[in-house]
Amino acid sequence: MTTPQTTQGKALITGASSGIGATYAERLARRGYDLLLVARDQQRLEQLATQLRAGHGIKVEVLKADLTQAADLRAVEQRLSSDAAISLLVNNAGVAMNGHLAGADSDKVDAMIQLNVVALTHLSAVAATTFSKAGRGGIINLASVVALIPEMFNAVYSASKAYVLSLTQTLNHEIAASGVRVQAVLPGLTRTEIWERAGIDDSGLDPRMIMEVGEMVDAALAGFDQGELVTIPSLPDVADWQAVVQARGKLGPNLSRNEAAARYKVAG
Ligand code: NAP
Repeated sequence: MTTPQTTQGKALITGASSGIGATYAERLARRGYDLLLVARDQQRLEQLATQLRAGHGIKVEVLKADLTQAADLRAVEQRLSSDAAISLLVNNAGVAMNGHLAGADSDKVDAMIQLNVVALTHLSAVAATTFSKAGRGGIINLASVVALIPEMFNAVYSASKAYVLSLTQTLNHEIAASGVRVQAVLPGLTRTEIWERAGIDDSGLDPRMIMEVGEMVDAALAGFDQGELVTIPSLPDVADWQAVVQARGKLGPNLSRNEAAARYKVAG
């Protein structure tokens, strides 16, 4: 058993039963966080909880919830707002889907929006309220690089991740002064169950584009430690992201004016 360095409070991790969420659970356990693990598969959560309690000497609770269901989401919100020990929210639960928007199964689309967008928004709002009152805490939101390259993948999935990036940027603007740390993580392809669950065959993907999940989460946590608002784990040169931020800033003064641009003053 490894002895945790310090007591860090409790981390609530959604989608902790596999992949990135389960890896955050292990890494945060190593850092001395107690954990509240949320997902639908109680058996997998219990197995992970037993392993982490034994391995790290921390407290681990399990909360079974389907975050696409309003009553389950409310129960998690309630827990987040009432448990003063929670100091970190990892908004990780998410699903992907394949195919074009034309002809998409609207039930699947709705469920993905419910999980990737609505649940993440509700939990971010509750954490923002409780953490900013306490003057401390962290919110880590799992977006994706497809927020920046939407043409590369499914329209609704990419849009849901662009939403997560945008929400996190605004949230940071609103609450950074209260002492709450906010981070959007934009992984590229990461080896987890997500592609198989979405019925996507990943065997044809270039292995040089796929990161192992432990490396991805370690990089994301390093970015969090370094105070980054946006972390892109595979991006070699951070100046490339900073150039995007600067280009956006340059647009700023011209995005809302009292006259149309000269090139549009052509209508009769
Ligand atoms: P994963 O292994 O499939 O894990 C998804 C997690 O979400 C599971 O723990 C799953 O648990 C949970 N979940 C799914 N539906 C849920 C629901 N209705 N209610 C509550 N929990 C639910 O996928 P992952 O790759 O680790 O994905 C984690 C996050 O990273 C997602 O937001 C994903 O979009 C993002 N991401 C992944 C990649 C990648 O390449 N893997 C790249 C960029 C971003 P249960 O089935 O037990 O509920």
